[in-house]
Amino acid sequence: MPGRARPERRHLAEPPDVQAASRCVNGCTRGPVARDDVRMTHPNLRADGADRAAARRSLEGLALGDAFGERWFPLFRDPDRAFQEIQARRTPPEAEWHWTDDTALALAVHRVLGEYGTVDQDRLAACFADTFHADPARGYGHGMHVLLPELLAAPERWRALAPELFEGGSLGNGAAMRVAPLGAWFHADLARVTEQAVLSAEVTHAHPQGIAGAVAVAVAAALSVRGELSVAAVAEATPEGVVREGLARAAALPFTTAPWKAADILGNGRRIRADDTVPFAVWTAARHPDDLTAALWSTAEGFGDVDTTCAITGGIVAARTGLSGVPAEWLKRREALPLP
Ligand SMILES: [Mg+2]
Repeated sequence: MPGRARPERRHLAEPPDVQAASRCVNGCTRGPVARDDVRMTHPNLRADGADRAAARRSLEGLALGDAFGERWFPLFRDPDRAFQEIQARRTPPEAEWHWTDDTALALAVHRVLGEYGTVDQDRLAACFADTFHADPARGYGHGMHVLLPELLAAPERWRALAPELFEGGSLGNGAAMRVAPLGAWFHADLARVTEQAVLSAEVTHAHPQGIAGAVAVAVAAALSVRGELSVAAVAEATPEGVVREGLARAAALPFTTAPWKAADILGNGRRIRADDTVPFAVWTAARHPDDLTAALWSTAEGFGDVDTTCAITGGIVAARTGLSGVPAEWLKRREALPLP
């Protein structure tokens, strides 16, 4: 699978996209926008059972993890130095921690839930495409650089195009990295969590294991809100295959294991696949279910696709904790979310 387009970070040199400022909060440019209009026109709109506060907590934590994790990427730090700094729990000194594609797409999922109360797949495809178009230099993977521009004019074409990615659909970690707020949103109904996670994943990740990664993370976030998070429970709720097998290995791994060693055993996202990303991120979340800061330090120890593993862990843990306990300087440095 081709690597990610890492070197083109917008925030390294380019000024903010002025055009983007006139778009909706996360780049979506087409309607429906007004909530009341949606209520009148969309047959699936229902908000019962939705926990918007939990979803918002998860989204804030996902963005924090994404931006914090990004600081440890080799583009910004020599790996040896990064390892020493993480071991010393030394806060990255940069004044601004920008979030990446993980957060940009999670904002799109969150927006569609806010509009419809459910995942409307064509609308989600449109929001993904608009979000990418508004700011394509957020570190998107190769598959999204191929797919999302194609959806800009015809969002409904995801049905034909997503399965063609990587000859059978993407099994990357992209559907998992954006889905934790959805799990928090529907946490009261785990069957609905699974159903909605599948819908959200299919728009870009047609491979069953790409979808399984999303189900696992959404369920983990839901269980986190409920105070019931365990790796074994997440594994049990995950469809059969390599993601579930990785979670089963994670469930058997004692929390006394050093996180860097756990990442060696479980994977750290280096292969950008759901099965080498989700088990470790869920394991660190379950290791620190009430301490977001500790969870993110542990996840960063694993390196690999560290913005994404930290985004997943952050979205899961913060669904329960919110940002409480996070150092004020972290909150000050994380790029703000374009939300009211
Ligand atoms: Mg990213």
